[in-house]
Amino acid sequence: MTQQNTAPHGSNIGIDGQALWADLMETAKFGGTPKGGVRRLTLTAEDRQVRDWFVRTCESLGCTVTFDSMGNQFARRAGLDDSLPPITIGSHLDTQPTGGKYDGILGVLGGLSVLRALQRSGYVTRHPIEVINWTNEEGSRFTPPMMCSGVFTGVFTEQEVLDKRDRAGKRFGDELEAIGYRGSEPCGKHPVTAYFELHIEQGPILEAEHKTIGIVTGVQGARWYEVTVKGKDAHAGSTPMPMRHDALLASARMIEAVSQVACAHAPTAVGTVGLIENRPNSNNVVPGEVFFTIDMRDPDDAVVSQMEDELYSQLPEIARRSNVEMEIVRIWDAPAVHFNPECIGMVEAAAAESGYAARRIVSGPGHDAAYMAHVAPTTMIFVPCEDGLSHNEAESITEQDAAAGAGVLLKAIMKADAAFNAG
Ligand SMILES: [Zn+2]
Repeated sequence: MTQQNTAPHGSNIGIDGQALWADLMETAKFGGTPKGGVRRLTLTAEDRQVRDWFVRTCESLGCTVTFDSMGNQFARRAGLDDSLPPITIGSHLDTQPTGGKYDGILGVLGGLSVLRALQRSGYVTRHPIEVINWTNEEGSRFTPPMMCSGVFTGVFTEQEVLDKRDRAGKRFGDELEAIGYRGSEPCGKHPVTAYFELHIEQGPILEAEHKTIGIVTGVQGARWYEVTVKGKDAHAGSTPMPMRHDALLASARMIEAVSQVACAHAPTAVGTVGLIENRPNSNNVVPGEVFFTIDMRDPDDAVVSQMEDELYSQLPEIARRSNVEMEIVRIWDAPAVHFNPECIGMVEAAAAESGYAARRIVSGPGHDAAYMAHVAPTTMIFVPCEDGLSHNEAESITEQDAAAGAGVLLKAIMKADAAFNAG
């Protein structure tokens, strides 16, 4: 091709931080809540509105926007060699029921701000650049999370996702049709050169250490368990303490053990019991049955396995001492994800060149990038959020940090454009 670039190293290209912030505030209106948060569940009218906005805005920047059979959107800016698989930037525009303005949205709009920077400068990358809005990252209306990056990368089949139902009984596939975003391009038939995702940290580390940029090296491993503890319902007034089979008391001891197992692998390991059901849950009945969940995570799969061994030996022992029976079932196993060293290096160099305080960090939550790492060189960029708060209407970041993250994203994309498929 004969097209020439005026800025061969992209040195005069910069993010318009004000425009990025204006986009964040504009999209927050789609499903905006009185408390300043966003309620934009996947495949709802609000989701359709923000998708339509994304199409209009990207088209105004000279991009072509398509969507695949799972409704994943791709805003494409042509490259000098348009036959190369695109360098991609992605995240999600859906939110939790009481979500914030930035979780996921910063990643998509940060990508949009990269497209805007390229468009305004007239610079044309070698690779096409695509910004992706993944359908149903949150997993709130339809579970599990990261559903459509999961189909894209072969973790789930298209049919199993299309047949998922929300709590009102509505089918995923029907709801996708209803908002007009079931595309004809088969999901996943879309090779990519590399994938970058900008996201808020959703934790307190960057803020506490006064760092602007988190260079994300991977996503920690996680396992989920369901525990059922069976004792015996009995009268709270007439059953002597030594004769009780108290399922809730036993569960309390087990919950303490979960915390101790995680604390024994400090500082990286975490263990949480976040859901519990007590039966019959009556003030004068010794509880006969309890159901609870356990969430265990660590960046090292060997540590997660070690914690599992400890749980499997300690919980039955607690049950025996407490005169109850128990059953534990592992229901989810997500191995740790290690991002691409070359992409990590690009983000690290981009942050250093920009003069930002930065540190390497492992993601606690899962992200679409965790699945994309299966199929392409991938990494993520984190920026701080106030008090580490996320999945909350009060989620807050600064305009400066948003622009800093997008600036590092832009520089990393330029490095990737130069490095991949060279010669
Ligand atoms: Zn997110």
